[in-house]
Amino acid sequence: MTQSATWSDDRVTALKVLWQSGASAAQIARQLGGVTRNAVIGKVHRLGLSGRAPPSRPGRAPRMSPPRAARPARSPPPPRPQVREAVPVALEDPGLVADMSELRAHMCKWPIGDPKAADFSFCGRAADGPYCPSHAAAGVRPGTAWRADRDPVVRRALAGLI
Ligand SMILES: [Zn+2]
Repeated sequence: MTQSATWSDDRVTALKVLWQSGASAAQIARQLGGVTRNAVIGKVHRLGLSGRAPPSRPGRAPRMSPPRAARPARSPPPPRPQVREAVPVALEDPGLVADMSELRAHMCKWPIGDPKAADFSFCGRAADGPYCPSHAAAGVRPGTAWRADRDPVVRRALAGLI
């Protein structure tokens, strides 16, 4: 590895300018010469420059492209397929806590079943936040309008416990 020799102050400055202008690592490597794309990426990380806007399109000299106001929006992605069937079976296991008043702070407050039914329960398993890991994942599942933390029953439980 001879990377350290290739990064003179001038070249580091050029790297920063190119990177911040939106050039890709491969483009920067070509501009600087004598370094690989991977070396550019490594240097960018060491310089703490990695967080930036999306890279410019390939094939354009970065200096020649002034920042654009806004690119034309791409056509919207197709609607996601419904994923309701993907819920793990474990989520339907009977809850451990039948009564809201028995829920404690570190118990999963995911409601199971119909709140009006006699067998309604809360998950009650160990939870880091409001829900156990399985239910936390289910609660943020894309494509699902219902969210446990917007459920009135759960909201009441949370208000009383947290
Ligand atoms: Zn749970």
